[in-house]
Amino acid sequence: MKATDLDKLSEFINVPREAAELLAYPEKQVKLNLNFRLEDGSLTRTDAFIAYYNTARGPAKGGIRIDQGVTLQETTDLAELMAWKTALMGVPFGGGKAGIKLDPRRFNKPQKGIVLREFVHLNKADLLSGHYIPAPDMGSSEHEMAIIFGETHMFESVTGKPPRIGGLPGRREATGRGLATCVLAAAENILEIKSCDFSVALQGFGNVGSWTAKFLRDAGVRIVAVSDIDGGLFRKDGLDIEDLLKWNRDGKKLVDYPDAEQIPRDDVLSLDVDILIPAATGNVFTREVAQDVNARMIVEGANNPTPPAGDDVFKELEIPIVPDILANSGGVIASYVEWRKAKSGSLTPREEVYDILDDLISKGLTRVLQAANQWKTTYRQAALALAIDEVIKAMEDRGWF
Ligand code: NAD
Repeated sequence: MKATDLDKLSEFINVPREAAELLAYPEKQVKLNLNFRLEDGSLTRTDAFIAYYNTARGPAKGGIRIDQGVTLQETTDLAELMAWKTALMGVPFGGGKAGIKLDPRRFNKPQKGIVLREFVHLNKADLLSGHYIPAPDMGSSEHEMAIIFGETHMFESVTGKPPRIGGLPGRREATGRGLATCVLAAAENILEIKSCDFSVALQGFGNVGSWTAKFLRDAGVRIVAVSDIDGGLFRKDGLDIEDLLKWNRDGKKLVDYPDAEQIPRDDVLSLDVDILIPAATGNVFTREVAQDVNARMIVEGANNPTPPAGDDVFKELEIPIVPDILANSGGVIASYVEWRKAKSGSLTPREEVYDILDDLISKGLTRVLQAANQWKTTYRQAALALAIDEVIKAMEDRGWF
C-alpha cells in the first residue's frame, strides 16, 4: 500500500504543498536483526521492524505484531494508520508500529519472553524516553507487555499490561467493546435498523473478534458465523457466544465446537448477513473477495482489511464501510487512558473506561457521518480527511512547515 492519497483529500481539506511532502513518507523506519537463544541454547535469528509514521501530535504509539508475514512495508502502513487513528479520536499520540517476523503459535510463553527481552534490548532508548509506546497486536498479548514493563520498570512505557501490573481494567476488551459500540451505532444510523435483532458474521476470533462477539451478543445481536485461522462455524439462529468463549478458554479448537455447522474458513466473508466484521488480518477484501460479499455493511475491526481495489468494488456495490481508524480505535483510546493513569497515578475503574470508549467512538461516528454527508464522500475518505487535517494543523503548530 502506498501512503494515503492526499490529492483526493485536498478536495475536502487544505493540504499545503510542504505538509503533503512531510506526510508522503514515514518519519523513521528501522530493520532489526533479532538474535536470541532459546532454552535449549540454540541460536535463532529473525527480522523485526519499527516504523514511526508521524509524531507531530505525540509519541509513536502502536502495537507489536508477531506474525510470520510481517514486513517493513506492512509495519509502516500500520504506523501510518495509527497516525490517522490517534488524530481522528483526539488522543495525544503519533503513529507507530512494530513487527516481529515469527509464527506466534510455534513459540511458547517463556520463548516469547526471550524474544521480547531482546526486542526491548535493541530499542531501550526509545522505550525509556517514551518516544515509542508499544501495545498488543496480532500475536502479542498482555503477557508480552508485562515482559516489556519488566525490562523498563516504567508503567507509562507500554500499554495493554495485565491489570495487576499497572494495566487498566477494561483494556483487554477495549477494542472489542469499542467495535461493538460502533457496530450498534452504525446499524442504527447507517442501516436504520431500530432494534438489535440483526445478523453479524465475524472473521477472526482472537482478542478483537471474541470480545466484539461477546458485547454484541450481550446487546441481543445474532452472531451467525465466526472463523479463525483453522476454519469457520455457522448457526442461522445465532451462535451461543458464551458457550463458545468457554470452549475457547478451555483451550479447545474453535472448529471442533459441536453446536454449530462447520464451514470453510473464508465462506464467512460471503454470507448473507446485515453486518460483516473482519477482525483478523489485513488485505482481506481483494477485488475477487469483495465481489462475493453479500453483507449490507462492513465494519472494520482489523487494521487495513480493505485494499483500494476492494474499496472500489464496495463503492460500486454500494456497501458502506465503517473504516478501521474509527471502528477499532477502542484499543488506542484505552491505551491512552492506561498511559494517563500511569503518568498520574490515578485509579481508573472499568466503568470509566467503558464510558470514555463509548463516548469518543459515538462522537467520532457522528463526526464522520456528518463530514461524509457534507463532502458527499465515503466514510473512509471523510474519516481520513478529518484525521489528516488534525495532523497537518499539529505540524504547523510545531513549526514543521
Ligand atoms: P489475535 O492474534 O488475538 O487474533 C487474530 C485472530 O484472527 C485469531 O483468531 C486467528 O486465528 C484469526 N485469523 C488469522 N488469520 C485468519 C484468516 N485468514 N481467516 C480467519 N481468521 C484468521 O489478534 P487481535 O489482537 O484480535 O487483532 C485482530 C486484528 O485487529 C488485527 O488486524 C489487529 O491489527 C487489529 N487490531 C487489534 C487491536 C487490539 O487491541 N488487539 C486494536 C486495533 C486493531
